[in-house]
Amino acid sequence: MNMGNEVEQKGQVWIKQNVLDQDLCTGCTACVGLCPYQKYHRDSTVILHDCDRPFGRCEAYCPRSPSDLAALNEALFDPRDLTPELGAIKGLYVTRAADEKVRGAAQHGGTVSALMALALSEGLIDSAVLAEGDASLISHGASVQDAEQVAAKAGSRFVVSPTGATFNQLSQSEAQAIGVVATPCQALALAKMRAHPAPGDEERTAKLKLVVGLFCGWALDWRGLKALLTEKVGQAEILGLDIPPSKHKCMEVHTDKGMVEIGIDEVQEIVRPSCNYCFDMTCEFADLSVGSARSPEGWQVDRGWNQVIVRSAAGQELMDLAREKGVLEFKELPEGNLEKLRAAAAGKKRTCAANLSDKSGDPDDLLYLKGEDISCQ
Ligand SMILES: Cc1cc2nc3c(=O)[nH]c(=O)nc-3n(C[C@H](O)[C@H](O)[C@H](O)COP(=O)(O)OP(=O)(O)OC[C@H]3O[C@@H](n4cnc5c(N)ncnc54)[C@H](O)[C@@H]3O)c2cc1C
Ligand code: SF4
Ligand code: SF4
Repeated sequence: MNMGNEVEQKGQVWIKQNVLDQDLCTGCTACVGLCPYQKYHRDSTVILHDCDRPFGRCEAYCPRSPSDLAALNEALFDPRDLTPELGAIKGLYVTRAADEKVRGAAQHGGTVSALMALALSEGLIDSAVLAEGDASLISHGASVQDAEQVAAKAGSRFVVSPTGATFNQLSQSEAQAIGVVATPCQALALAKMRAHPAPGDEERTAKLKLVVGLFCGWALDWRGLKALLTEKVGQAEILGLDIPPSKHKCMEVHTDKGMVEIGIDEVQEIVRPSCNYCFDMTCEFADLSVGSARSPEGWQVDRGWNQVIVRSAAGQELMDLAREKGVLEFKELPEGNLEKLRAAAAGKKRTCAANLSDKSGDPDDLLYLKGEDISCQ
């Protein structure tokens, strides 16, 4: 990753050469909104003006600049909770929102929306950063202050959302306590801000009080997705997308004219290239992480429930509060779920390591990662 200069550039020049030009940019937008030079435009992070400062918050917080994952874990979690495959785990639960209206709007069980609404209504946070889709399938960052408005932003947008930029903007406003719903790459950027704020950036980053993470297999390239859906569903109105467990080998497109299934091979062709270099399936740097449930009851039941990993003390507090207030319903964790999650998460790390060493041309050079940080047998 050394660019060969005597003094290694660590600002925008570094980001351009080592992340943007290398197809490694996740679109997390942690580098957007901190200076006038970088912007997010229609699924891409773009440089408007060159900046030759040798240090920048863009590089410091980028999830694709070298990260000391062990130091981040040490700063954010109880070392007794750490596992090689899944990061910190205090507990694994199967839950759904108790409120049927929230479940009706949600991607799966509505756990994420219920937790964010609870954090707002209890005053744990005063603002929430969520994502909001539009008719062109692009995703925008949304800042919400009213718990009643959280469910209006429910559902998964399978393209990246400019969450980092929305947090950066909000944290420079009057908001004092911010909660963020984040994918794993976004959560890693936020963890860097939380654990190692750049000099002078401490007050702003300390406003981050809660990160609710999403499990993430991959995100799709927006242009590719638009083209694929135009071909497969024509003019039908798209109500939502979902990815059932891998044995179904498809993406579901829910439209006003019914459901269309698209073969997973076609979908994989439009995965964002940067997702092939991602090590994190379960959002290890969140306070708690949420994905779809898996159980012997099968997808038709599981799609209405979530699997939740509680990671930090703040995450545990929120989960306990949700139980106490009856905001979430709980059901028994199926036997073997933790092992299945471990195996799937380890598989993503192995693929990431293989793809990064292919890219660097050196089995020992994992570009932004250290081998020992993502090794699991
Ligand atoms: C790109 C992507 C890939 C995913 N891959 C997997 C996977 O492989 N396996 C798995 O189990 N789960 C995956 N998920 C998570 C899953 O789709 C659900 O978000 C999760 O199960 C929570 O369900 P819920 O009903 O509690 O969420 P909801 O209550 O519907 O809340 C979802 C929240 O996520 C926010 N959001 C939506 N899209 C984005 C986005 N692109 N970026 C940031 N925030 C967003 C919404 O604003 C909302 O607050 C993925 C999600 C995304 C966005
Ligand atoms: S901070 Fe995020 S958006 Fe910016 S260059 Fe890095 S990965 Fe891309
Ligand atoms: S797969 Fe990784 S890089 Fe891609 S959107 Fe998900 S968390 Fe980000």
